[in-house]
Amino acid sequence: MERREFFRRLSGQKQATRPPYALPEETFYSQCDGCNACAKACPQNIIQLASGFPIINFNQAGCTFCGHCAAACDRGALDGAIDLEKSWQWRALIKSTCLDKHGVVCRACEASCEEDAIKFRPALGGKTDVFILLKACTGCGVCVFSCPNNAIDMKIPDSNPNSLIKEAVV
Ligand code: SF4
Ligand code: SF4
Repeated sequence: MERREFFRRLSGQKQATRPPYALPEETFYSQCDGCNACAKACPQNIIQLASGFPIINFNQAGCTFCGHCAAACDRGALDGAIDLEKSWQWRALIKSTCLDKHGVVCRACEASCEEDAIKFRPALGGKTDVFILLKACTGCGVCVFSCPNNAIDMKIPDSNPNSLIKEAVV
């Protein structure tokens, strides 16, 4: 498939969860040849190819930001010198299917999060508000596979999470 056609098909699609240290998307495509070296190097085994390019799948494990994927990339599509504070914008999103939001005590994700970024607050009707402290969340994705009800997704918040100074409900 020609790259022009590839870009056309991608337009309008959900943003891909590239491995950390990935160059900005357009540059990434021009450098990455889909060799799969990053996926083979990942000790967490969370990188897979989708449409010939690597993405992270958080359904089995989270990212430790070890940088092995970037070190394995000899095309420069992943660059270990990239500042993740600025480039890695993914954060956890608690979806409406969260059991606690419907009055069932679960909190499996709370125990999984080393950053203590998942917060619970009593709400009306015996329910619970569940939200992510964006300043604390690193976007590691560990909570995603901890959820027994598939109620956590990864999302890039509308605002840069590093610019937020207070708790944000997503
Ligand atoms: S930083 Fe490490 S754990 Fe994360 S995707 Fe790359 S190789 Fe895997
Ligand atoms: S993505 Fe990681 S840091 Fe963020 S809430 Fe989930 S487990 Fe915690």
